[in-house]
Amino acid sequence: MAQLNQVLLVAGTHGNELSGIYLQKFINERLFDANRTTFSSSSVIANPEAVKRNVRYVDTDLNRCFSDRAQTMPLDLHEHGVAQQWIENLDTTANQLVIDLHNTTSNMGATLILLSQDPFYTHMGAYVKQRMPEANILFEDRKTWQEQPYLCTAGKYGIMIEVGAQAHGALKSDVLENMKKMLSFVLDYLEKYNLGQLDSLSNYDAYFYTEEVTI
Ligand SMILES: [Zn+2]
Repeated sequence: MAQLNQVLLVAGTHGNELSGIYLQKFINERLFDANRTTFSSSSVIANPEAVKRNVRYVDTDLNRCFSDRAQTMPLDLHEHGVAQQWIENLDTTANQLVIDLHNTTSNMGATLILLSQDPFYTHMGAYVKQRMPEANILFEDRKTWQEQPYLCTAGKYGIMIEVGAQAHGALKSDVLENMKKMLSFVLDYLEKYNLGQLDSLSNYDAYFYTEEVTI
């Protein structure tokens, strides 16, 4: 796997999850450095209309729109049009890691959601867990990359960071701090990965999908 020399920080995939949106403001005001020597980071709001309305989505969940990417989506729903643009833009971007920032109302603290067990990701989980023992590492890899419904899989490399508990449309400082902390370790990991400077990584506990439970 080649070096990744570009990071795309995505917020507002769900328009009422505010931590990532505020973190982007910090980055723009140079209060948080998302660049390292081997890559530069840029920020984008995924679904500006949903952010403007302070809702999760306008017509349908944008973060479930990417599993049928080979087919042309009917563009009658707002998020289908947004997803189509993302697919076209990210398809052509190699050597870029997409980091999609989310909140949850669940009291889970910070969770790193990894969609593949490629060593790049399993090592990322180890690096973060060693430095942030309270973090949850979740592998959601039961689907192939192409079948994943998530926005961060529209490109070649992507992860999600999800931090809670935070009510939708609200902003809590401890949740924002947790997001900054986990993001910093992910960015540090990528820098060390690019430099070939990853030290020995320990085994760690992670969560995996087992079955769906109907309640
Ligand atoms: Zn979300």
